Amino acid sequence: MGNSAEKSKISTSLDFRAVGKQVGHLVVPHSTNTSAWGAIEIPVAVISRGEGPTAFFTGANHGDEYEGPIALSKLIRSLEPEQVHGTVIIMPALNLPAFRATRRLSPIDGMNMNRAFPGKGDGSVTSMIAHFVSTRILPLADVVVDIHAGGKTLDFLPCAVIHELDDDNQMSKTLAAQEAFGAPFGLVLRELDAAGMLDTTVEEMGKVFLSTELGGGGTATPETVAIAEIGVRNILAHFGILDEKPLSREDRGMAPMRLVHSPHEQCFTSARDNGLFEPFRGLGDEVEKGDPLGQIHFIETPERDPLIHHAGRSGVILCKGVPGLVGKGDCLVVVGEDYKDK
Ligand SMILES: [Zn+2]
Repeated sequence: MGNSAEKSKISTSLDFRAVGKQVGHLVVPHSTNTSAWGAIEIPVAVISRGEGPTAFFTGANHGDEYEGPIALSKLIRSLEPEQVHGTVIIMPALNLPAFRATRRLSPIDGMNMNRAFPGKGDGSVTSMIAHFVSTRILPLADVVVDIHAGGKTLDFLPCAVIHELDDDNQMSKTLAAQEAFGAPFGLVLRELDAAGMLDTTVEEMGKVFLSTELGGGGTATPETVAIAEIGVRNILAHFGILDEKPLSREDRGMAPMRLVHSPHEQCFTSARDNGLFEPFRGLGDEVEKGDPLGQIHFIETPERDPLIHHAGRSGVILCKGVPGLVGKGDCLVVVGEDYKDK
């Protein structure tokens, strides 16, 4: 665990409590062969009119997920202090080195930003960023929204994601924020390995945390960008930071959010061998337990029969693997079942 009293090596000219609009950087010292006294400058914006709640938005926690950086840089340019009650803090590319490298993980230290929390003040670059966020920004926030997508290797039905929380009051506030975001799907996760996540760090502070999985494949679509843009404004409206009503799915003539979860191991189908995956079903298809989902071909031994993979549970195809060539253990398909609130 990081120590919150540890001094950060990161500096910034921004004052996170000042009224007005500030766009600047977190300056992370990074000495390399090509830049002896160099630094990595992580973009950050603070838009505030003082009194009121604080929302914190992050994108590119994983470097190959693009709806966050697009929607949040637009928000930085469009949002002015006189429009808000309270404060909005925005980091459109939390793991900037990974974003620059078009990779999920940082090329500098190999770390997954979403396993680096709460971070260390004198740690590696990823760990230092996590530590600064944990100690300097999260304590100010009432709600945190971390915009993810499937990255290069997964593709999702667009969903707002929350965790099952033990505290009923925190859970109901989080469910309400998820609904307000306005995505077509809501996913409720019980994380198997929650250590080191931004999610967990925020949730343990008793705050509202929302994540998303908006498409994937290492790109963005007009639909997924629109969901992100409307979603962040809806969160600001839901928390009273913007003086407007959230734009509900109903208002837009859309079906209500469908709440799903994947509580069983059998919801996850992984490749049982290396080969070329031929999908039989696509995102959003309804499947029954036992339905064939696809098959792995062995192109270098074409006399060998393909290996068919079947659905372990009934439900909607919520997520699928992107690469055609798969390795044993790679995620092929995740099925979501309708979630009944306890
Ligand atoms: Zn991600």
